[in-house]
Amino acid sequence: MKALVLEERLHLSLREIDLAQEMGPLDARIRIGRVGICGSDVHYYKHGRIGSFVVNAPMVLGHEAAGVVVAVGDEVRDLAPGDRVCMEPGIPDMTSRASREGHYNLDPAVRFWATPPIHGCLTSEVIHPAAFTFKLPDHVSLAEGAMVEPFAVGMHAATKAQIKPGATAVVIGAGPIGIMVALSALAAGAGQMIVSDLSAEKLAIASQYAGIVPFDIRSGSLAERVAELTDGWGADVVFEASGSTKAFDGIFDLLAPAGTLVLVGMPPGAVALDVVAAQAKEARIETIFRYANVYPKAVALLASGKVDLKPLISADFSFNQSIAAFERAAESRPADIKLQIVVEGSVS
Ligand SMILES: [Zn+2]
Repeated sequence: MKALVLEERLHLSLREIDLAQEMGPLDARIRIGRVGICGSDVHYYKHGRIGSFVVNAPMVLGHEAAGVVVAVGDEVRDLAPGDRVCMEPGIPDMTSRASREGHYNLDPAVRFWATPPIHGCLTSEVIHPAAFTFKLPDHVSLAEGAMVEPFAVGMHAATKAQIKPGATAVVIGAGPIGIMVALSALAAGAGQMIVSDLSAEKLAIASQYAGIVPFDIRSGSLAERVAELTDGWGADVVFEASGSTKAFDGIFDLLAPAGTLVLVGMPPGAVALDVVAAQAKEARIETIFRYANVYPKAVALLASGKVDLKPLISADFSFNQSIAAFERAAESRPADIKLQIVVEGSVS
């Protein structure tokens, strides 16, 4: 099957590769329509590894996918050929202790697309468990369906934050995940979202959305701005979505007493945390690892029209242009939020 293969660091090829074809009774066979390029795909492309995950053998990239079901296993009841779907890319062992205790995303044995040694979905067809395949309503496009994966990260972060109606929240970082977090928190009822970044282009894209107040950190102190907007009280929730070590300097100054800090971004190494500053506010600290049980809710929000992710798709490329798409993603142009590859169907 033709696929976009990362042969090794900085070497991609679009070529035939043997991929598992056996379909179990609980699986679906899905023709891939669209795949979004994620920061992690680009990181593997540029560096050949993320932490302890190392690309030691050719690996198909891509994990943000939507497509059309072409066949289902004998025991699949809620999917049928022709259904348009999006797929949750991490497949846990459902009998594992983590899964049984309700944390399937934390199963150490989870098989996640395009995390070595597991192949991703930048290929024409995949076999995937029906339980991790979600139907898209007719009016939700495959382009939007392929946005559900990064949106799920934001949904999970907002869920962990336990956002209350009218809450004020800060998101540090206006990259694709930061914007997804902000939109999820707004959908959960946040009244005001202050989103900070040092890219004017990214902030301009984020501030297209009602309820988002952009803040350029080159223009002054984020803590002072948050104080101004909250009568000196601080934000109910702070989401760290930049992954920058610098974001942790004075991070509790942003937070209201008894507020919540949610760690979404992944810093490159260990970070110093001001424990006393956290204690003085009895801050609650939450972390997330990918997401669990949020895909149906994410699809429902897109279907309701309450969240529109279409403005975040910056460009799309045909499957044949996949390598060019990755080269563009590797440039990290500030106005590029999400690039997508159209594996089957028409490029806009
Ligand atoms: Zn992703």
